[in-house]
Amino acid sequence: MSSIDVPANVEEHADAILRVCSYHRRDFDLVVVRSRPHDMRLVQGSLRAAFETLPTAELGILGRLPAELMSIVLRGLDVRSFFYFRQVNRRARVLSTGLWEYELVSKHALEGLRGLLRAELAHCFTIDDLYRTLITDKCTTCGAFGGLLFLFTAERCCFECLQSSAHYRALPPSAFAKLAKISPSRLKRLSGLSLRTVPGIYNMMERPVRRPKYLIFEEKAIQTLLGIRAIGEDSIRNLRSRREQSDQRFMTATAYPYYSLENAKLERGVSCKGCQVRLELVHGDLDHRDQVFSTRGFLFHFSRCVETQHLWAESKGGTRTVKEPELTRRCGYFNQLGSDGRPA
Ligand SMILES: [Zn+2]
Ligand SMILES: [Zn+2]
Repeated sequence: MSSIDVPANVEEHADAILRVCSYHRRDFDLVVVRSRPHDMRLVQGSLRAAFETLPTAELGILGRLPAELMSIVLRGLDVRSFFYFRQVNRRARVLSTGLWEYELVSKHALEGLRGLLRAELAHCFTIDDLYRTLITDKCTTCGAFGGLLFLFTAERCCFECLQSSAHYRALPPSAFAKLAKISPSRLKRLSGLSLRTVPGIYNMMERPVRRPKYLIFEEKAIQTLLGIRAIGEDSIRNLRSRREQSDQRFMTATAYPYYSLENAKLERGVSCKGCQVRLELVHGDLDHRDQVFSTRGFLFHFSRCVETQHLWAESKGGTRTVKEPELTRRCGYFNQLGSDGRPA
């Protein structure tokens, strides 16, 4: 993101500006697939370390490969096979743990790794796929900063696109089969089209939602079924005209930070406090309030956002605490607020 030009006077105070004027939308992370911190802590240690005892057994013919070729093989294994390989013996564990791409993914993107395993989609992607998404900050659909991993494709996406783009449509298998006029068992046999849903809170108001056991990725299912001539145009019309249950899209994504190789920093995305101030003052403009930026993107936005510059001026260069909106203070997580961020 170094291509974003930030004025020198903003660059000079970048860290303080980010601290005073930006915040992370925690509510966006909480409404998609997520793990309990306790569960993550239990697995993190074992995923990131080899055993302390030195390996004694070899890997047979695989062990004769030069290290470089071995890395290529490991990077090409799908996630499920990669974990099977890790369990072969201590030497396999050492080799897999030392793979740079795996090291980074298991350290910074555990939620994505776990999300794919829980969704029963781990056989569709490699560690390298997850790594490449981790070091990319842009939403595949709109090009803005994306803080989520779309589990069906292991692509990065933003909250806005996940909610509104037709690309992310998902349907329960029974509804899909009925509208496409194909048998549910045939649909089930096609690999990579269905995702197993997991328990979670999938709406901002934290109301219980009906959760189907599986969801079908509509776009890919249509492509696959058209490819084998199992459906026709009428089925596609039926499918596209069906209204979705919006909560179900949240069951197909998980929070996924961005790792910048340039400065070895992890970014979860930030939003603008000033844009919330403006929303409360003049109403409307939810789109601006809900924008998520990379840190470079935010610093660029800062030089154009009058309200956030006021906050910065009030903070006297980050040396004084400023009064900020309740919603930004709570990082967006406050379900008793109305859509404008004020108490309902
Ligand atoms: Zn997007
Ligand atoms: Zn702003």
